[in-house]
Amino acid sequence: MTALNRAGWRPEMNAAGGADDNVTFTGNRALMLEEPLIFEIGGTGTTGVDFDEAALAADLGALARTAPIGLPGLSESETVRHYTRLSRQNYAIDLGLFPLGSCTMKHNPRLNEKVARMPGFADVHPLQPQETVQGALAVINELAVWLIKLTGMYGVAMSPKAGAHGELCGILCIKAALEARGEDRRVLLVPESAHGTNPATAAFAGFTVEDIPATAEGRVDLEALRARLGPDVAGVMITNPNTCGLFERDMKAISDAVHAAGGYVYCDGANFNAIVGRVRPGDLGIDAMHINLHKTFSTPHGGGGPGSGPVVLSEALAPYGPLPFVARYADGTHKLVEEENAGEEHPETFGRMTAFHGQMGMFTRALTYILSHGADGLKQVAEDAVLNANYVLRSLEDVLDAPFAASGPCMHEALFSDKGLAEGFSTLDIAKGLIDEGYHPMTVYFPLVVHGAMLVEPTETESKAVLDQFVGALRSIALRAKNGDPALKTAPHFAPRARLDETLAARKPILAWEG
Ligand SMILES: *Cc1c(COP(=O)(O)O)cnc(C)c1O
Repeated sequence: MTALNRAGWRPEMNAAGGADDNVTFTGNRALMLEEPLIFEIGGTGTTGVDFDEAALAADLGALARTAPIGLPGLSESETVRHYTRLSRQNYAIDLGLFPLGSCTMKHNPRLNEKVARMPGFADVHPLQPQETVQGALAVINELAVWLIKLTGMYGVAMSPKAGAHGELCGILCIKAALEARGEDRRVLLVPESAHGTNPATAAFAGFTVEDIPATAEGRVDLEALRARLGPDVAGVMITNPNTCGLFERDMKAISDAVHAAGGYVYCDGANFNAIVGRVRPGDLGIDAMHINLHKTFSTPHGGGGPGSGPVVLSEALAPYGPLPFVARYADGTHKLVEEENAGEEHPETFGRMTAFHGQMGMFTRALTYILSHGADGLKQVAEDAVLNANYVLRSLEDVLDAPFAASGPCMHEALFSDKGLAEGFSTLDIAKGLIDEGYHPMTVYFPLVVHGAMLVEPTETESKAVLDQFVGALRSIALRAKNGDPALKTAPHFAPRARLDETLAARKPILAWEG
């Protein structure tokens, strides 16, 4: 293949350069820089590194590369520019409001980053002798104590590495508890509004998943749940606050009914940031709940970044929790309880979720966040998150259908549907229109129980001025969708790429350059 050129322009672009306002010689538009694929700019015969051919051949012998491997080669500055240019076409929490719901793109205080990078935390190795990592163990234990306190639960498993991993951990605890009781209960009840990971976890752990319907107001149908309980039901998995953005007010009654029928209550606590400091899940009769540290207690996530999903456990389930965990002794020292000493400390454990102790970098960030806010500050986080979401809900319910607006205040996210848009206009058009307004779109088409759902989570850190601008943008797009503005059907118009054929992109992705 011949490398096209190194500046990022393609010959076909420059034909009308300068002749028309929309076309430039380079394809760039001022600071918005055009950037081709790396395969298009870097020839596979090029390399950015100088090798001493003779030394290479001698050192590597038969391992030396003898044929091209088809990877693009670029100089250092070309490589840096390529990725920097691409990064400028991305949207980030540091650029503006991130309205994704069911995801909580949180403020990530720089203090967290500073602490996580301290060499004593960043450079420890999980196989170091325990007496050399007492501080790191103390951090894990201190965070564990906070999580237990904030949730009113009995114990916590720190090692799960994301929310879904925490769900699996909690469900395996339930499975172990049932086995210890000698009971073969196979069914897990999951409301239809559940996050997709809930039924996936239940099925992965070998349970049969059965739906529980929702009421018209978007909450679990308590009577339908009660009617289904029986000796084959292992328990329920309920998200609270739920994915419709509502608090499950009947949670205590649900837990009591499930316990009376011999089952366990799993709560998906991914939305804990809406109630932290206000509600203790332990008081609601919950047996296991994962906490997404990367949602509730800041820490960056998204784009496959690290997560951390500790699971708090009730007294009934704690004995079955996974290894390893940090135990603190009366003399102030910390020790890991692992397979070799579990016999005396934790004999009923179901086993291990991870090779080591969990996400240390997330632990330091979450504990920094907790300590810098304090208990009162965390409560305020929850209150401000709920206030901001309700502000968005009430500011837009006159132009966008809000199916549960009459069910009372929402929690930390506001839910809208596509009802009332002009013929042929959909939620997707609104999302694409938001891109032109300079926002990442909100979560779309989730939860599935609402047609054309739009789930907006503004988070607690946004000011009224920022919310007003976002509300203004969404309002104007909603009106265009209601009035059938044809230009909205082809949005975005101002983004580096116009509307893509998403089906084609998903079905036939171009993952390598055939030069
Ligand atoms: C994010 C989320 C999950 C899954 O958490 P991960 O950390 O992404 O695995 C589960 N349930 C709900 C309600 C969530 O919002």
